[in-house]
Amino acid sequence: MSWSERQQAMLEAMGLRVWTAPPVPEPEPTAPEPVLAKVEAPAPVRVVSVLPQIVVPVQPAELPRAPAAAGAVAAMDWTQLREAVAGCRACGLCEGRKHTVFGVGHERAHWMVVGEAPGEQEDLQGEPFVGQAGKLLDSMLRAIGLTRADGPPEKQVFIANTLKCRPPRNRNPEPEELAQCEPYLNRQIALVQPRIILAMGRFAVQSLLRSSEPIGRLRGRVHEYQGVPLIVTYHPAYLLRNLVDKARAWEDLCLAMDVLQRKT
Ligand code: URA
Repeated sequence: MSWSERQQAMLEAMGLRVWTAPPVPEPEPTAPEPVLAKVEAPAPVRVVSVLPQIVVPVQPAELPRAPAAAGAVAAMDWTQLREAVAGCRACGLCEGRKHTVFGVGHERAHWMVVGEAPGEQEDLQGEPFVGQAGKLLDSMLRAIGLTRADGPPEKQVFIANTLKCRPPRNRNPEPEELAQCEPYLNRQIALVQPRIILAMGRFAVQSLLRSSEPIGRLRGRVHEYQGVPLIVTYHPAYLLRNLVDKARAWEDLCLAMDVLQRKT
């Protein structure tokens, strides 16, 4: 199979340069041509302020490069992607998991929420944000008229995590685990084509913005991921322990709504 111009354009838009290797002589005339995908470092993150136009450079985080399989993942449809995640053995987290946690929500949701990694309940149930932090997330979404339950794409969000498997004892994700899982999240975002992304917590930010700056320094501004406006906010699990920052999280949701209204 050779890449169509449309596929190439799509992959290039995601930061992947694709080329077709010269045909290798094969005894089977129907054998497919090998297709190689090269993963390139993502373009520097553009940070855009909604009000005064300030461009703020962010510090690149120390993440290893995405694995070679990124090229294949970048061409998957929803069914293929779900199967790939369910059967993934790219890192050691697969050894201890009960379920992979793919994500839930509308496949063309206007809002995409990106969290960190499954915890105990998520691992048991195979759904993101079903524990205490998830209840808070549901309330936050409800407060701005959104839901994870069935609904039209402007109301029903898509919720995904940077990691699809639970780290043991809920420890922080390792850079290698984030790098192995990153192509799945990238592909989910490319398929959903959200109008706005809410990045919750430092690991979502690390994956999507390549930034290791603290949330407090990144929130309150509009960032961009592959041309999609991205709002940084606190992780709901953090908010459960730091109630005073709930007001700031609310400001972040309002900023996101504001950005979306300006877009439509
Ligand atoms: N925290 C997350 O970031 N994601 C979940 O799915 C659950 C808790």
